[in-house]
Amino acid sequence: MKKTCPIIAVERDYEVAKEKEIPVSEYYGEDTFNIRVMKLKLPGNTYRKIIDAYHEGTILDLDTANTVAHAMKEWALEKGATHFAHWFQPMTGFTAEKHDAFIDLIGVTEVIERFSGKQLVQGEPDASSFPSGGIRATFEARGYTAWDMSSPAFIRRNGISTTLCIPTAFISYTGEALDKKTPLLRSSRAVSRSALRIMKLLGNTTVKGVYATLGPEQEYFLIDADYFYKRQDLVLGGRAVVGAPPAKGQELEDQYFGSIKERIASYMHDMEEELFKLGVPAKTRHNEVAPSQYELAPVFEEANLAVDHNQILMDTMRSVAKRHKLACLLHEKPFAGINGSGKHLNWSLSDNKGTNLLNPGQTPQDNVQFLIFLVAVIRAVYRHADIIRASVGSYANDHRLGANEAPPAIISVFLGDQLSKILADIESGKATKATDKEIINLGISALPVVNKDNTDRNRTSPFAFTGNKFEFRAVGSSQSISFPATVLNTIIAESLDELAEKIEAQCRESGNVKKCALSVIKDELKEIKPILFNGDNYSAEWEREAARRGLPNNKTTPVALKALITEKALNLFEKYRVLSNVELRSRYLIRVERYIKDLEIEAKCLTNICQSQIIPAATVYQTRLAEAVSETREALGKAIPLSAQEQVLKRVVELVGKVYGSCQEVLAGVAKAEAVHDEQKKAEMLCNKVKTKMNELRDYVDELEGMVDDELWPLPKFWEMLFIS
Ligand code: ADP
Ligand code: MG
Repeated sequence: MKKTCPIIAVERDYEVAKEKEIPVSEYYGEDTFNIRVMKLKLPGNTYRKIIDAYHEGTILDLDTANTVAHAMKEWALEKGATHFAHWFQPMTGFTAEKHDAFIDLIGVTEVIERFSGKQLVQGEPDASSFPSGGIRATFEARGYTAWDMSSPAFIRRNGISTTLCIPTAFISYTGEALDKKTPLLRSSRAVSRSALRIMKLLGNTTVKGVYATLGPEQEYFLIDADYFYKRQDLVLGGRAVVGAPPAKGQELEDQYFGSIKERIASYMHDMEEELFKLGVPAKTRHNEVAPSQYELAPVFEEANLAVDHNQILMDTMRSVAKRHKLACLLHEKPFAGINGSGKHLNWSLSDNKGTNLLNPGQTPQDNVQFLIFLVAVIRAVYRHADIIRASVGSYANDHRLGANEAPPAIISVFLGDQLSKILADIESGKATKATDKEIINLGISALPVVNKDNTDRNRTSPFAFTGNKFEFRAVGSSQSISFPATVLNTIIAESLDELAEKIEAQCRESGNVKKCALSVIKDELKEIKPILFNGDNYSAEWEREAARRGLPNNKTTPVALKALITEKALNLFEKYRVLSNVELRSRYLIRVERYIKDLEIEAKCLTNICQSQIIPAATVYQTRLAEAVSETREALGKAIPLSAQEQVLKRVVELVGKVYGSCQEVLAGVAKAEAVHDEQKKAEMLCNKVKTKMNELRDYVDELEGMVDDELWPLPKFWEMLFIS
C-alpha cells in the first residue's frame, strides 16, 4: 500500500476557536427544548399540564399540545431550524427520522411557518420499510410515532441544515411496539412498580417513585478517513475482514490512559461540544487498551434518557469524525488480534430523591433493603442468564465475546470478596436469627464503608457488582443499549416481585419483616449461588466449571437467540406487559435475519476483495518473481541456485490457488444457505459452515500479505491504520 500522509489536525482556526470558548455550564443543553426552556416559554398552566402529563402519564388535550407546539416551533426557528422530524428507534438498532418543513401554504404564492399540536404529538411514517419481524403480516401495515415527553426535543445540525428532532415511540396501528423505545418504557414502569413494592414492604413509606439508571461506557476506534475509504470491508461492514495483526499491538501497554494525541484531542473536544449542547453529559474520556481505541463515559441518567443519549452519542461520534477526516469505528471487533470494543452498561435503581438503591446503606434497615435488591439482581441473572446472553447477541459481537479479551458467552456475577463473604455468612445461617445488633456484628454495617474504588476489580466478569451498581460488560459497542436494558429491567422486576411474595408469605407467620427478608435471602442464595464467580472468566477451567454448575454457554448468536422464544421468556415478557408474544417473536426473528444479513454481506465483501484486489496484486508479484527467476538464470546460467526466490514463488502460487478455491467455497456456502427457508437453520448453517471457511480464507490472505511486495498490496495494513493518525 502506498502510505498516505494523513492530515495531522483538521483545518481549524485555533485562535478563533479559543476566543469563542465559554464554560460548558453556559451552553450545556442549549439545543434542547428541556424543562427549563419549557418553563420559560410556556404559559404557567400549560407548563403545569406538561409536568403532570409527564409524571402521571395523563394524555395531553389538543389545546395544550397546540400551545407547546407553537412555543417549540418559535424556539426552533430561533435556532435556525427549517424542518421538524419525529425521531425514533426502529428495530434496525439505528435511529430514523423523516423531515417535514414547517411551511404551510397561504394561497398560492406565500407560506408561513406552522407547527400544530397534532404534528407534535403524532406522526405517520410509512412503516413498511422498517423490519417488523412478521408483525406487519399479522396486523395493520401502517405505523405511527408518538411524542415521548420524557426525552427533550433537540436541534440537529447537519452541514448547513438544521432540524428540530422530537423523540418518539413507534407503534403499529393496532398497538404493537415497532421500536426499541416502547418496550424500554414499559420495562422501566415494571421495575419501578416492583421496586416500590419491596420498599413499601420493608417499611419505607416516604418513597414515591423508583427508576432505573444507566451509564453506558462507549468504546470506539478512530482511524484516518483516507485508509477507511480504501477498504470496502470497513465501509460496508465496519470490520477488516482480512489483515494481519501488526508487529506491535497492545503488548507494551502504552496506550491505555496514555496521553491523547493532538488530532484526537481536537476531535474529542469538538464532539463533546456538540454533545454538551444537546444535553448529553459526556464526562470521562481516555485512550483505551488497543492502539487507536478510545472510550467516552457519560454521567448516568434515567434509563430512557440514557438510551436516547447513547444513540445521539454514536451519531455524533461518527459525524464529527468526518469533519476531522477521521472514521469512527463502532464495530465490536474491527481488527482481528486487537482488542475489540464493548459498551459497559452500568445499571442501578434510584428512588425519586436520587438515592441509589444499590448503595450499601448506613443502617441495618438500609442494609436489608440493599441486600434484597442485590439478591434480586443476582437471582434474575441466575434465572435468565440465557436471555441476558441473547440480548447482546449479534454477528459482530460474536467476534468479541469469548475471544479472551471480552466477557465470555457464559454469564456469571462477580461480587468481590467482601460481599461474597457477607452473603456466604447469611447463607450458612449465621445471620438468620440476627437482631439488628447482630446484623451489625456480622459486618453488614461495615458495608457503608465499602469504598467504591476499593472494591475488587475483575475485568473478566460479564456482570460485575462495582460498589454501587452492576456493570453488564458483554454489550457490544455498536448496539443500542435499549434491549439489554429492557431485559435487565424486566427480569429484575420479576425477581423483586417473587422475593416480595416470599417475604410476604413468611411475614404472615412471623411478622418481623427484616427477619423474614433475611431468611428469604438465605433460602434464595442456596439456589442461585452457582451464578456467583469471582475468578478468571477467560480461563478454560471456568468453562468446565460453569458446565458442571449447569450454567448456559451459548457461544454463537444463532444458538443464543433461541432463548428469546422459550416458554419462559415469552411468559415473562408477556406477564410484565413489556413485549407480547408476537412482539417478542418479532424481535427474535429480526435478530436472526440481521445475523444472516451481516454474515452474508461480509462473505460477499471478503470474496470480492480477494478476487478483485488480493489475487490480482499477488499475481503481479508472482509474475515479477517468475521473471526475476528466469531472467537471473538467463544472465547467470541455469546452474545458479535460486531456492529463496523459487520457494517464495511456489508459496505465492499455492496461496493464490487456496484463496481462489476458498472464495468459491464461501460463495457456494452462501448460495446453499440462501436456498434454506427456515431462518434459524440458515443462520446456523452460515455460522457453522461459511464462517469457518471465511476464517480459513482469511488466514491464506494474511499469509500473502506478509509475502507480497508492500508497494503492491492493495489494502491499508493494520499497522498503518492503527498507528498513523
Ligand atoms: P469504571 O467502571 O470505568 O471504573 P465508574 O465506576 O466511575 O468507571 O463509572 C462508569 C460508568 O458508570 C459511568 O458512566 C457512570 O455514570 C456509571 N454509573 C455510576 N453510577 C451509576 C448508577 N448508579 N447507575 C448507573 N450507572 C452508573
Ligand atoms: Mg467500567
